[in-house]
Amino acid sequence: RLLPEGALSVEFRSVTFGYEEDNTTLEGLNFRLEPGKVLGLLGRTGSGKSTTARLLLRFYDPGEGAILLGDTDIREVHLHDLRSRIGFVTQNIEIFQGTVRDNLTFYDSSIDDTLIRQVLEELGLGNWLASLPKGLDTLLESGGGGLSAGEAQLLAFARVFLKNPGLVVLDEASSRLDPATEQLLERAVNRLLKDRTCIIIAHRLSTIQRADDILMLDDGRIAEHGKRLAL
Ligand code: ATP
Ligand code: MG
Repeated sequence: RLLPEGALSVEFRSVTFGYEEDNTTLEGLNFRLEPGKVLGLLGRTGSGKSTTARLLLRFYDPGEGAILLGDTDIREVHLHDLRSRIGFVTQNIEIFQGTVRDNLTFYDSSIDDTLIRQVLEELGLGNWLASLPKGLDTLLESGGGGLSAGEAQLLAFARVFLKNPGLVVLDEASSRLDPATEQLLERAVNRLLKDRTCIIIAHRLSTIQRADDILMLDDGRIAEHGKRLAL
C-alpha cells in the first residue's frame, strides 16, 4: 500500500516492544498526532524516546500493537516508500566518504545543484560552501572529520529539506553549540515544522515551546500527554 501525499498523521496503538525477550522497552504506547502537528517527545535518558523513533522507521517491528502513518499500518507499506516519506535526523549524524552533493542527495540525480545551493544558503551554510575548494564536488571524510558539530547538524537538516518528507522525526542533539549555530538550528527547525508533521525528541526549551502536543515517557510508558507543558 502507498502512503497518502503531504503531511502524515501518526498513530501508535498499544505498541509494546523489547530489544530482547522478557524485557520491554516500550509498554502499551498509545497516541495520535494529526497531520501538520508537532509532537514534543520528552523523558529522561533511557526512557524509550529514540526507540519510538526507530519503530516508526521500521528498524524494528513492535511485538504487539500497530503503528499507523496516514491511517495505514506501516507493515503494509513498502520499506523504501516508508523511509522515503520520513526525514530522520538522529543524535549522531552520519557523514560518509563522498562528495558534499552525494552526502546530501544520497545519489538521487534528480536533485539539481541549484536546489542544493539554495537549501545550503537558506540554512546559513552559504559561506561554508563557498569556502570549500571544489564546492559541491568537495570530498567529505567518513564520520564527518573536518566538519564542526554545528555544520554536521545543519547538513543533516539540508538532507531533510531536499527530501521534503511528510513526516520529520528529529532526535535533537543534547549537546550545546555556540549561540550563532544554535540560532541557525532554531531557524532551521522552524522552517522544517512548516506544513509537515513532526516528532521532536526535544532537549531545548525553544523546541518544546513550539510543540502542539507533549508526550512524556517514563521507563517506556506514557507518563503524561498534554497539549502544552505547564512551564
Ligand atoms: P536518551 O535520552 O539517552 O537518548 P532514549 O529515551 O532515547 O535515551 P532509548 O535509546 O530509546 O532511550 O533506549 C531505551 C532503552 O532501551 C534503554 O534502556 C536502552 O539501554 C535500551 N536500548 C536501546 N537501544 C538498544 C539496543 N540496540 N539493544 C538493546 N537495548 C537497547
Ligand atoms: Mg535517544
